[in-house]
Amino acid sequence: MERLIRGYREFRKKRWPQERANYLELADKGQKPEYLLIACSDSRSDPATIFNARPGEFFVVRNVAAAVPPHSADHGLFGTRAAIAYAVIALKVRNIVVMGHAQCGGVAAALNPETAAGIPFVNEWVSLLAPAVDKVRAHTHGDDEATNAERETVKLSVSRLLEYPFIAERMAAGTLKVDGARFGIADGILELLDQKTGEFEPVKVRNGWFS
Ligand SMILES: [Zn+2]
Repeated sequence: MERLIRGYREFRKKRWPQERANYLELADKGQKPEYLLIACSDSRSDPATIFNARPGEFFVVRNVAAAVPPHSADHGLFGTRAAIAYAVIALKVRNIVVMGHAQCGGVAAALNPETAAGIPFVNEWVSLLAPAVDKVRAHTHGDDEATNAERETVKLSVSRLLEYPFIAERMAAGTLKVDGARFGIADGILELLDQKTGEFEPVKVRNGWFS
């Protein structure tokens, strides 16, 4: 706990004074986040850091590989679906963003189950990624395999979200958007999914450069 206590003290010293009024308002009026972020549990892919968020801005679901179970899955897996339903129906978020990332261990396990051999639950969970993995296996080889599987996993999660009736209804009404992205750990590049082409395009940062 020492590291956490140190971090908390730092937070109270520096950030709390800046955010105090914001926290008070959030406590008084409740949260009203406009974004639901679905990201990987990986310690390097924290949406609040990458998107420079303030408290109250994002409702976040993190799980291994940023996976979205099919709406109709009849076994377990309720944690992620409960968070999605709460964010959309109760909090009325206006955007859902699925963010995958480079060097994703969950996607690696979906590609090669032996990487998670002996670890309970992981291979069962990442079996959700099977349609993405199958697609990649049919089309790519070697080094591109992991990157393509990470991108296909984001596309799969996005396409599954579109099958949730309460999401489809709100998209049709124009009150909700769903997007996909992938964050590059080593280069810091965020690429966005173009849902028309199925391709990922890097976000320009300044003067046309990506970093
Ligand atoms: Zn990951």
